[in-house]
Amino acid sequence: MSRINVMQPWLGEEEIAAVADAIRSGWVAQGPRVLEFERAFARRMDAQHAVAVSSCTTALHLALVVAGIGNHDDVVVPSFSFIATTNAPTYVGARPVFADIDPETGNVTADTVKAALTERTRAVIVVDQGGVPCDLGPIRALCDPLGIVVIEDAACGAGSTYRGAPVGARADIACWSFHPRKLLTTGEGGMITTARAAWADRARHLREHAMSVSAADRHQSVLPPAEEYTEVGFNYRMTDLQAAMGLVQLGRLDDIVARRRELAARYREALSGIPGLRCIDDPDHGTSNFQSFWVEVAPPYRLTRDGLLAHLAAREISARRGIMAAHRQPAYDTTGPVSLPVTERLTDNTLILPLFHQMTEHDQDRVVDAVRSAAALEEKRS
Ligand SMILES: *Cc1c(COP(=O)(O)O)cnc(C)c1O
Repeated sequence: MSRINVMQPWLGEEEIAAVADAIRSGWVAQGPRVLEFERAFARRMDAQHAVAVSSCTTALHLALVVAGIGNHDDVVVPSFSFIATTNAPTYVGARPVFADIDPETGNVTADTVKAALTERTRAVIVVDQGGVPCDLGPIRALCDPLGIVVIEDAACGAGSTYRGAPVGARADIACWSFHPRKLLTTGEGGMITTARAAWADRARHLREHAMSVSAADRHQSVLPPAEEYTEVGFNYRMTDLQAAMGLVQLGRLDDIVARRRELAARYREALSGIPGLRCIDDPDHGTSNFQSFWVEVAPPYRLTRDGLLAHLAAREISARRGIMAAHRQPAYDTTGPVSLPVTERLTDNTLILPLFHQMTEHDQDRVVDAVRSAAALEEKRS
């Protein structure tokens, strides 16, 4: 029995050829391919400006810096997210304040954000968790009059839509990931998109040590350029090797989303009617790319989440615990008691089923059979 992975990137000969071309060109660090990738990504995501960086984590860090968030500021974040969402405010000396989530979408809402606001809240980071679009409209209606910056962590969201537009387009600034666990991959990599030219320019400057002369310009000049460092910057650059791969991957996005949505619909159909098992679905306000297809198990389903994971593992099916909760991590156990009942419910009772572009229907049937047989086994036992 072959093993079924939870996720596999969809890569082919085109990516290999594109990276080989970049190597042959002699320009392997940030250069013309990064610029081309930024332009193509901005077009695809309906963004005015795109700035490529080394990861979504560094994108989130830069987003907070260009938005002017720092010491003594509070930033509302969901605890129900990958740890990077909470780490980013910590990097700039701000305090992450956790908001709970809606049980249907796994995302923060205007109500849960409102409950987490303090006098010092200057920004909110919303997440399109697992690819499910966050309901931005009401959150902007809450935050805009208060001057609170809305940052969208769209790490999982490439190809998801919110009210007919790509996710990210309604935020002040959005951050994207190209880690292999997401739909598009460059190995590691990230992107910032924003409508604000000044923020995009500053992010470009900061990702390159805040150097007054860009590496590309320096390379062009024969005379040694007189660069200066106008503030404390970072090395958060993407390489042209990564961008070459990203350009090919971006061209695959529509196919990847279509296939994932097809497989997700097939899962929902096959797993419907199992008492106590709930599948993630599109919200009313948009469409998901199903970056993570998660299910929640609760009584009368007789297996716990961990019991079901073990049952799947015994059948060579590699599922994963659902989204983590940052407030339970040792790094954040100093934030004091918090009440996040929905976050805790979902983080304890959800698991992510295998779903990837090349997954065959035969593979998917094996997963479905295993989930169904687990329910039946327990019913007999009880
Ligand atoms: C994966 C992920 C990140 C981190 O992305 P990297 O590119 O690995 O830094 C941040 N936020 C969310 C919601 C993620 O899922």
